[in-house]
Amino acid sequence: MRRTKILATLGPATDKPGVLEELFRAGVDAVRLNFSHGSAQDHIDRANNVRAVSKKTGRRVGILADLQGPKIRIARFAEDKVWLDEGQDFALDINLNENDGDNTHVGITYEALANEVKEGSRLLLDDGRVVLDVVNVVNGRINCTVVVGGYLSNNKGINLLGGGLSAAALTEKDKEDIITIGKIQADFVAVSFPRCADDLHLARKLLADVDCHAGIVAKIERAEAMQKEVMDEIILASDVIMVARGDLGVEIGDANLPAAQKILISRSRELDRAVITATQMMESMIENPIPTRAEVFDVANAVLDGTDAIMLSAETAAGKYPVQTVQAMVRVCLETDKQRAARTSKHRVDTRFERTDEAIAMAAMYLANHSDIQGLVSLTESGATPLWMSRIRSGLPIFAFSGSEATLGRVTLYRGVIPIYYELKTQDHVQINRDVIELLKQFHYAEKGDTFIITKGDLTGQEGGTNALKVVTVGAGLIPE
Ligand code: PGA
Ligand code: MN
Repeated sequence: MRRTKILATLGPATDKPGVLEELFRAGVDAVRLNFSHGSAQDHIDRANNVRAVSKKTGRRVGILADLQGPKIRIARFAEDKVWLDEGQDFALDINLNENDGDNTHVGITYEALANEVKEGSRLLLDDGRVVLDVVNVVNGRINCTVVVGGYLSNNKGINLLGGGLSAAALTEKDKEDIITIGKIQADFVAVSFPRCADDLHLARKLLADVDCHAGIVAKIERAEAMQKEVMDEIILASDVIMVARGDLGVEIGDANLPAAQKILISRSRELDRAVITATQMMESMIENPIPTRAEVFDVANAVLDGTDAIMLSAETAAGKYPVQTVQAMVRVCLETDKQRAARTSKHRVDTRFERTDEAIAMAAMYLANHSDIQGLVSLTESGATPLWMSRIRSGLPIFAFSGSEATLGRVTLYRGVIPIYYELKTQDHVQINRDVIELLKQFHYAEKGDTFIITKGDLTGQEGGTNALKVVTVGAGLIPE
C-alpha cells in the first residue's frame, strides 16, 4: 500500500475530457488549483469537476488552492511564447499592454519592480531558465541584455537574485481570490512567499471571513524563511509546509536546496506539521513518457526524507503525459515506501505529553510498530489523531474514520492516512468496532486474522476526546470474520 501522497496541479492538460478521471484512477490524492494562472471561473469549474469525478470514482481527493502571492510575473505574448537569443536586448515594460509581448519586450504584473532594480541587477525568469541583466530603467521600462536565452512563455515568474523584494505576502488579487476560494470551499489554501507568522494569520482570518476553514499551507520560497526563528514561526503558524523548490532555489542557490529540503521536512514533522515537496520532480515528463533516472531518485529521496506528499506542477497541468507521470510517481513511491517499512522511530521519545489524545496516538503507533498489526484506525473529529500518528515512521496504513467532510479532505495530504467516511450512529463500542472492521473488509483493507488498533473517545464525536485504544482481530472475540 502506498503511504506517500501525490498532489497534482490542474490545468489545460487535465481539462481534456476523461483525463481527470484517469488521474484519480492512477492514484492522485489531492489536486492544486494554481491561482497564478486562469480565471476565477476556471477554478470554480475545475473544483466542480473534481467533486463530480470524486463522486463517480468513489475516491476522495483534497483540493488545495494556491494563491499567486507577490510573485512577479511577465504578462503574455501575442503568440504565447518567444525565443530569446543570448546577447540580444529584451525589455520588461510596465506600460505595455498585457497581451502584446513579442521577442523584444513583454509586460509585467508588478509595477514596483521598476523601482526595485537598477543597472547590474540580475533577473531570473522561469525558475532561472532565462537570465537577464538590467542595463537601465527608463519610465517603467526595464531594459536588459539576455545572459541565458531560451523559450519564454506567458506569465512566467521573475526572481531577483539574492531575494529581498519588499512586496507583502497577500496581494489585492489574492484577497479577491480568497472570495472565490470560499465559494469553492477548498481543503487547503497555500500562501506564497510568506515572510512571517502574521502573513499566515492574516490569510487564515480572511478565509474565516468567507467561512472557509481550510488548512493553511506556507510555501517556503524566500531566503529569509530559512532562518531558524523565522522558519519555526512560519511552521507553527501553518498546518502544512511546502518546500517550494522553484522559487527557493532561485533565492538561495540550487546547491543549498537539498539541505534546505531535509531541514524543512524534519523540522515540520518535529512540530507536528505535514509537508509537501514541490517543483520539477518529474520535469522531463512534460515532454517525455518516462522519467529520467535523476527524477526517479529525486522522488525516492523526498520519500526517504519523510515528506508527506510530493507535488506535480506543469507535468500534469500542461504536460503531454499527465497520467503516465502520476503512474511513474506511484511506482517509485510504492517501492521506496517498502524501504522505509523499518518500524522504528525516535520521534518524541523524550516528550511528556500534555494531552491524553496525543499520548494515545503515540502509544498506538508504538504498539503498532512493535507487534503484529496490519493497520490503525482513528475515529476522529478534527483529524488531529491521524496527523500525530502519521508523524511517526511506520510502514502501516492509518485509517481516518470521520463523519466530517472537512476533516476527510484535510487528511488526504497526510502520509499513510486513508480517509473513510463513517457517521457515528451508536455509542455501543462493540458495535463501533464491528462497523469499523466491516468497512475495512468492504474496501478490501482487512481479512480474517488481521489485527487492527482502533482509537476513539468514550464520548464519541467529541473533538479532542480520544482516550481509548482497542486491539481487535478479524474473526476473534466479538468481531465476526
Ligand atoms: P509555484 O510554487 O509553482 O507557485 O511557483 C512552487 C515553487 O516555487 O517551487
Ligand atoms: Mn513559487
